[in-house]
Amino acid sequence: MEYDVIVAGGGPAGAAAAIAASSRGLSTLVLEKAGRGRDKFCGGGVTVLARRYLAELGAREVEEVFEAWCEGHVLVLPGERLLVDAVRGLSYAMVRRRVFDAKLLEIAEASGARVVEGARVERAEAGPEGVTVVDSRGERYTGRYLVVATGAGDKLPERLGFPGWRAGDLGHCWGSEPPTTPRARSRRGVEPTASPRSSSCSGS
Ligand SMILES: Cc1cc2nc3c(=O)[nH]c(=O)nc-3n(C[C@H](O)[C@H](O)[C@H](O)COP(=O)(O)OP(=O)(O)OC[C@H]3O[C@@H](n4cnc5c(N)ncnc54)[C@H](O)[C@@H]3O)c2cc1C
Repeated sequence: MEYDVIVAGGGPAGAAAAIAASSRGLSTLVLEKAGRGRDKFCGGGVTVLARRYLAELGAREVEEVFEAWCEGHVLVLPGERLLVDAVRGLSYAMVRRRVFDAKLLEIAEASGARVVEGARVERAEAGPEGVTVVDSRGERYTGRYLVVATGAGDKLPERLGFPGWRAGDLGHCWGSEPPTTPRARSRRGVEPTASPRSSSCSGS
């Protein structure tokens, strides 16, 4: 076997699995179909529990990419209705996903994992000793275990025989990232608490 653990998908789940495995001395390979860190449709909030979990995992260094601290958020709904949700005392960090996901992969590499970009996992076959994984370029990798962390939209789990999503499990989401100004934020009543490294909060 080339690797103890092969991880399909280099998002937060895949990177966290890789950090956990490689920091325990297991030889670990991450196969990511895109590049290192992707922009994703995401609010970019890292909750108190997620932050604690990352620290316990040995990935405290990821805090270097926290850009602002928020103690609440304002959702602007159709018709200019506002939904204000304050979490004072439980402030959460804001990140840009492209930067956050890339940093987690960097930590995984620093823990000893190998990361291959542009490698979409197409097939996996289990044998008596482990699993053989084939990527979109026809490269083959062998490992004792395969972790599938390819996100909610990917069909690989189903192709491997895991149950698919049921219609009621998923919702649709449309979004955009409109520009915002400090004045507009202040008019809506919430100002992010700037971290020492940044003076603005992403999103609106
Ligand atoms: C509108 C919205 C807002 C959100 N806001 C927040 C928030 O504020 N805070 C928060 O914590 N969460 C938020 N989330 C949820 C968060 O985005 C997800 O929970 C998180 O991205 C899941 O991580 P993951 O690693 O499981 O999957 P993903 O982030 O989807 O990563 C999967 C990775 O696998 C790769 N991949 C896919 N298929 C293959 C393949 N076949 N082979 C190899 N690689 C593959 C992809 O390129 C990707 O990098 C939000 C989600 C949405 C939709």
